[in-house]
Amino acid sequence: MNNISRQTLISSILVIAALAFLVHRSRSFTSRPAPVERVWPVMGTFASVTLRGDHADQLDAVCDQTAAMLETVNSLMSVYIPDSEISRLNATTEAVPVSPLTRQMLERTRHYTQGTGGAFDATVLPLVRLWGFSGGKTPETLPSDAMIEAARRLMGIDKLELGENSARMTAPGTTLDLGGIAKGFAVDRCYEAVIAGNAVNAIFNLGGNIRVHGKATPDRPWRIGVQDPFEQGETLGFLALDSGMALATSGNYERFVMINGKRYTHIIDPRTGRPVEGMAGVTILSESATETDALSTALFVIGIEDAAATLARFPGSEAIMVPDRRPTEIYLSKGMQAKFVPHPEYRNAIRRLPE
Ligand code: ADP
Ligand code: MG
Repeated sequence: MNNISRQTLISSILVIAALAFLVHRSRSFTSRPAPVERVWPVMGTFASVTLRGDHADQLDAVCDQTAAMLETVNSLMSVYIPDSEISRLNATTEAVPVSPLTRQMLERTRHYTQGTGGAFDATVLPLVRLWGFSGGKTPETLPSDAMIEAARRLMGIDKLELGENSARMTAPGTTLDLGGIAKGFAVDRCYEAVIAGNAVNAIFNLGGNIRVHGKATPDRPWRIGVQDPFEQGETLGFLALDSGMALATSGNYERFVMINGKRYTHIIDPRTGRPVEGMAGVTILSESATETDALSTALFVIGIEDAAATLARFPGSEAIMVPDRRPTEIYLSKGMQAKFVPHPEYRNAIRRLPE
């Protein structure tokens, strides 16, 4: 080969390589996969994931792993599944072998039951059933004081004994209901197990228990609307969530029973044994979905007056609380005031939680 033809060959190879590089670049710009969104029923509610990233197969894999993790948590911990580990624990005073995941869930559950002074109490199941929830039959008339007292006497997280690979309910009739914390716990497990090592941006949402990873777009954080407890599908305003943050809402509007024409919500005040009255919605922001779930239930019980004292025990958690009366008032904890952006019509409805 003479010099000229060799030079021609080399330069054409370079041109082809440069073109290939450019084509590859432009394709990776224009062919960035569309966001993947999947919604499916699980744990008595709906799960949804929204994922953005550069590789479609990675997004699909994250979806599949999320679904598998939620299925695992549900099959271990649902009180609706007769041979779940929690159902077996509830059925006997013998020690029951438990998986590391259930062991971790029980430890967290005890932590929040103790840390909220029993406003969140995972042994509330006999009362929850008495009022017609979690497998109980809706009562035709209000339960009597004696029935409420009998169910209340069964409560007590001190009856939960935790071994290394086992757990035990030490009193007959004392039973666990993880309905106020399991969804948040499941979201955290998805966040940790599924996102680790994956360059995807994600929102996990399990029945209003949300945790985000990364950003919505390279220059915009994920923004989440805060549910208006009085108008289905409407929001009071929104929060921008930094990567890793979690948000959950407990409300009186989604699950309730009607007794004698009056509405009773599914969150029970363990101190009175009766459904909470006076709160419409509580939203918690924190670094853990388990904590937002447990604290949204707890502050729903505790109410506006004493909320700040409980929040002080959980640094990093902030609250939005809406009492069940009109016109709408929106109480914000101290650290929430710089974060929550109300819709213009609610600017005058903002209050500070009493310290
Ligand atoms: P949701 O499950 O509707 O999202 P929550 O997270 O507030 O709402 O949990 C409510 C569930 O928690 C109830 O359905 C019941 O199973 C359980 N529960 C009710 N009252 C309490 C309580 N005081 N402490 C702990 N769990 C509770
Ligand atoms: Mg909860």
